[in-house]
Amino acid sequence: MKKIIAVAAMAAMVVSMTACGSKAADTGAEATAEAVAATEAATQTAETTEAATENVAANGTLIMATNAEFPPYEYREGDQIVGIDAEIAQAIADELGMELQIEDMQFDSIIAAVQTGKADIGVAGMTVTEDRLQAVSFSDSYTQAAQVIIVKGDSAVATPDDLKGKTVGVQLGTTGDIYAEDIEDVTIDRYNKGFEAVQALLQDKVDAVIIDREPANVFIEENEGLKVLDEEFTVEDYAICMAKDNTDLLDKVNTALASLKESGKLDEIKAKYITAE
Ligand code: GLN
Repeated sequence: MKKIIAVAAMAAMVVSMTACGSKAADTGAEATAEAVAATEAATQTAETTEAATENVAANGTLIMATNAEFPPYEYREGDQIVGIDAEIAQAIADELGMELQIEDMQFDSIIAAVQTGKADIGVAGMTVTEDRLQAVSFSDSYTQAAQVIIVKGDSAVATPDDLKGKTVGVQLGTTGDIYAEDIEDVTIDRYNKGFEAVQALLQDKVDAVIIDREPANVFIEENEGLKVLDEEFTVEDYAICMAKDNTDLLDKVNTALASLKESGKLDEIKAKYITAE
């Protein structure tokens, strides 16, 4: 509904812009006739777009919300957003005969984007949690994941229990952030990007970073003097989120995912970005 209103508002803007342009160039009846024609054209555009909007889950554009700061799931390569999630979403769009459009935003804006219809799906290495299930629905899981602990190579922190009383860096609004609160006497420093939390660790501003395993592996490879602890902090499932009332799309995404699992395409995509240890 919101989208339709936005489209109507945009059409109105086009009309007034066109009308202004005409006024400057022409006068009188001519300008009025032009303005009327512009109104008609804009109304038509609005109608076409409205139809496309209603149809979005059947055919057309599938809009994916993500936060492209999360290698190897989503990150930028030049002006492209690439990674496991981008490829899975592309494969799902292909299965559904739709165009994929990726919208990059803060991680903690993704759920709102999906709820308000700004995006159709959220694909962002997003963990299924009870709290999030109150706000959105999730597809079947497409991967198992974990929160792990990154420390400096010479750190005394060797297990999750050693985090008691320490300062921990996390990415705002992630499960690392949420579950870190369970640590006794912990101080949590929240960063917009996981990478910034890792920078803080390198600068000794925090004692450890809690973050998802695969991004952790990428970050320790890119920065010397860091290690990931063997013991996982939590074990989780990643899935695709959607607006709760969009049950039609949920079915379609789950069917597409099942087919990608069965054909081996899903494993192929993961293997392209994650080399088995
Ligand atoms: N898996 C974590 C979560 O869902 C982090 C995801 C992310 O930072 N993109 O909160």
